[in-house]
Amino acid sequence: MLHTSNLGFPRIGFHRELKKGLEKYWKAELTQQDLLEIAKTIRMTNWQLQHDLGIEVIPSNDFSFYDQILDTICMVGAVPSRYQVISKEFDLDVYFAMARGKQKDNVNIPAMEMTKWFNTNYHYIVPEIEPDSRFSFIYQKILADYLEAHKAGFQTRPVLIGPLTFLLLSKTTAPGFSPLEKLEELLPVYQSVLTELYKAGAEWIQIDEPILVKELSTQVKEAFQTAYQILCGIPNRPQLMLTSYFGSPGENTDLAFSLPVEGIHLDLVSEESSWDILDAIPLEGKILSLGIVNGHNIWRTDLEHVLEELKKHPSLSGDIYLAPSCSLIHVPLDINLEEHIAEPMKSWLSFAVQKLEEISALATVFNEGKKSSRFIKNQEALKSRSSFLSQHGSGIEQKAFLERNTERKHAFPKRKEVQQSLLNLPLFPTTTIGSFPQTKEIRRARSRFSKGELSREEYESFMKNEINNVIQIQEKIGLDVLVHGEFERNDMVQYFAEQLEGFIFTENGWVQSFGSRYVRPPILFGNVSRPHAMTTRWISYAQSLTSKPVKGMLTGPVTILQWSFVRDDQPRSLTCFQIADAINAEVLDLEKAGIHIIQIDEPALREGLPLKKDNWQAYLDWAVRAFHIAFAGVADETQIHTHMCYSEFNEIIASIAALDADVISIEAARSGMELLNVFSGFQYPNDIGPGIYDIHSPRIPSIAEMTALLEKAAQVIPPTQLWVNPDCGLKTRNWQEVTPALQNMVEAAKILRSNTK
Ligand code: GLN
Ligand code: ZN
Repeated sequence: MLHTSNLGFPRIGFHRELKKGLEKYWKAELTQQDLLEIAKTIRMTNWQLQHDLGIEVIPSNDFSFYDQILDTICMVGAVPSRYQVISKEFDLDVYFAMARGKQKDNVNIPAMEMTKWFNTNYHYIVPEIEPDSRFSFIYQKILADYLEAHKAGFQTRPVLIGPLTFLLLSKTTAPGFSPLEKLEELLPVYQSVLTELYKAGAEWIQIDEPILVKELSTQVKEAFQTAYQILCGIPNRPQLMLTSYFGSPGENTDLAFSLPVEGIHLDLVSEESSWDILDAIPLEGKILSLGIVNGHNIWRTDLEHVLEELKKHPSLSGDIYLAPSCSLIHVPLDINLEEHIAEPMKSWLSFAVQKLEEISALATVFNEGKKSSRFIKNQEALKSRSSFLSQHGSGIEQKAFLERNTERKHAFPKRKEVQQSLLNLPLFPTTTIGSFPQTKEIRRARSRFSKGELSREEYESFMKNEINNVIQIQEKIGLDVLVHGEFERNDMVQYFAEQLEGFIFTENGWVQSFGSRYVRPPILFGNVSRPHAMTTRWISYAQSLTSKPVKGMLTGPVTILQWSFVRDDQPRSLTCFQIADAINAEVLDLEKAGIHIIQIDEPALREGLPLKKDNWQAYLDWAVRAFHIAFAGVADETQIHTHMCYSEFNEIIASIAALDADVISIEAARSGMELLNVFSGFQYPNDIGPGIYDIHSPRIPSIAEMTALLEKAAQVIPPTQLWVNPDCGLKTRNWQEVTPALQNMVEAAKILRSNTK
């Protein structure tokens, strides 16, 4: 018998009620009571909807005001002491202060750190666990939400982040200490949670341990054993569905099945997963939940294929739960909210609501032997998509990209020579990362243009005026390599995706990025090509205004891939190569237009790393290849830059060097030049600009401060290789901060120059 279940539902609300409610609450335009009402309505709507869609196992505690890891931090009482000045008792204001920081009423406390959740673009709040952390069951939302659902007639399965994943994602400031050492102190809280939920009537708990899809040390494996022996050993508790996702547990499969839990959920659809795992598992009387619908992408599921697989695996007898591979918070809500996506394309797409319909339709076919109209429609949509792909989405071979000659004509030292004789840059050349402040007026002009309230002519003259200003400002500050400011760009991926063939866009396809921030990722549905030049006019215009070099600014192929929903019928590498090819056309056009410096940003390169280290090198190899395809064919004189906004390079530095960009700029100021450790052990061959201005903060760094950072850098990187730049683009800053900060930066470079002579 097949049952239907879900692991988590988007919490934004069909009309973005949560986002709007939060933002108003933060501005004190709503009372806390109003906000609680909004949240309750969203939960009720979601439970009712999932029930109506035929889902038997409906999650609770998947709702969150901000983030489920922050919820867990508060649940176990691991509130860092600096937030206790806000209120002794934990409340929603402490919760939001942890998420967003607080600068009011004489308190000035920064927010907790945020980082990406596994291989998604969702950000969670990083727990801080110290040797003296104490735990107790404080924030009882998991219980309250269960009871709320129960009262409304829904028997839900509460979602609980497991203790190992929680601790392994935590950070600490204590040297030599590992948060895992706190496991045994943490477990009593988990026991209380289970006991309380049991008393309230909960039959099952979904306990999420996605860390199981990574490689684990022996010590962690043992900790898993200990933890689950203790948790499962308590009398009178709900049954546990141990849930992993974003990959297969791989070598941890035996570990997972050896734990004394009642059920195991497996992701069968992620890139690294396969149904074969079902032949190898020691079932041990456990109930299986199968993630057969991709919760991390937006294509219709091939239900016929799933049916065949289900029948092929005779071990699948008894009660089986069908589920999405992971929580549905990583996909948009409902394709029916899209009015502008035309058929048949619309029928190919499956958002959260459609994914649950698919699960329902599958169970009906399997259990009752009849194909519902939903099932038939699904298969028709698939047929239409695959016939489109075979006509318009194929014919481009991986092999051709792998064999293409993408080498620069000469190695870096020779290139540097010819570039230098053309560009004539001073020692410690100064530049910025690309964007300048996106003022209200600029955003308004873009929005009025897209609504048709500004004519193309008016819009262009507005933008040209902005470019004019920013060129003058940069000249006055004395920067050596200028940029045009990126004023025409809404977003560094969307701007390019909108001009390339092969992408579509949603109007309401919001996906949570963090807190109240949602993004609408472009959808890459077919072959990618570049019908016309995308940036040359703006860049050439900027270059026409100055005798200093202006950098062309492009987003790299890996970043466009990472921040979009992409087709699943071919390897991601091939899709990435196609994007790279389109970017290459732009690079060559910029070169033809007389642009001598071209920056290809790859801020998402590192986050694309697979979850299992074993798969890292293969990924890095094709990511590097894609970058090479993007610059293939340029003359030695053309200087290729790239930019990355993170500093953890230790393990991937060889691949970063293999990119063979002439110049790379990297975040460094924010992380206190941590980056430089890498360079004492690795001789980076090309030019490099470690950021010396933390653009994430409104602070204006002094000349002395930036000089000191540069001197520190010059100790591990030869001065002839050093560039001077901020950590990242300046679009989120204002001019009052940017102008003096860049003036100081240029002064710092001058000091270094005169000291080096
Ligand atoms: N060129 C982009 C900018 O300056 C880079 C943004 C990024 O690294 N995320 O805005
Ligand atoms: Zn950046």
